[in-house]
Amino acid sequence: MWIPPEFLDVRISASDMSFDVCPTNRNLYLSEIEKVKLPADPSRVLGKAVESLYFRIYEVVTKHVYDLAESKQYVKIDPWEVLHGQDPDLIKRSIQDAEEKCKSGDFAATDLDALTGKLKKILDFEAHLSTSLVQNQLSRLADHRVKGFYDDLMHFSIEPTYRAELLGFSTPVKPDFVYGGKTIGDIKTGNWHEFKKLAFTGYALAYECDRHQPMNSGIIHQVHFKDSLGVPLHYNTKVEIITNELRTQFVTRRDAKLEVLRNGNDPGKPDKKICEQNECPFIPHCWGKK
Ligand code: SF4
Repeated sequence: MWIPPEFLDVRISASDMSFDVCPTNRNLYLSEIEKVKLPADPSRVLGKAVESLYFRIYEVVTKHVYDLAESKQYVKIDPWEVLHGQDPDLIKRSIQDAEEKCKSGDFAATDLDALTGKLKKILDFEAHLSTSLVQNQLSRLADHRVKGFYDDLMHFSIEPTYRAELLGFSTPVKPDFVYGGKTIGDIKTGNWHEFKKLAFTGYALAYECDRHQPMNSGIIHQVHFKDSLGVPLHYNTKVEIITNELRTQFVTRRDAKLEVLRNGNDPGKPDKKICEQNECPFIPHCWGKK
């Protein structure tokens, strides 16, 4: 599992490790060796804004429940109200976060009205969900242990960091969240691809390397949108066991990527169909514009 001695001088970021679009790793050669710049892409802004909005919703609802449970003002507990009291501010601030984290070209290419509409779907959905969960709990327990219930149900550690140089990662490695100390995860937008599982596998191994404790399950919270539906879609969000197969796959792919970075040679292209299936952003560069 540790990095082999021949790669000790090479490091890879967690995002380059998990963005496994290309079987030959030509994407890595192009971005890291040839320094090819990708065209502006608004999907990166969507990804960062969605991530930020989830973190903000979690922060707002947690503070609201804790404060009112602490002062025993149970009648005022209403996540819907508090979340919508901060809308559109919450959405605006999430878009600002994305602007700060993304390249200016990506942000300039973003349709901000469409982005706001997608974030609003998430806000409404999470406001409904959190309100139902908390109100249901209040209706069922005479002693109102709502804070304990909330702690158990919503036990997230947001953006923890781990050192994992021994695995070949440039550090720190920063997953989006750890849930209940048992499941490590990432929030992703766009279409589902099986290679996305490499993200939580890498994070789990980094956690184990840093904490010396097992991390045996992972999740990609996959968020998708359809104009015909008013709710965000989570078709592929599910907890997965981090099997030996996934761990072996991680090591094999990591060593192949590190080899590309070490030798600096063009590794060549796979069948074009694979590039298209994986929606690789380098297609115009590798295959020419249609
Ligand atoms: S377009 Fe194809 S060959 Fe080029 S980097 Fe992407 S997957 Fe690899």
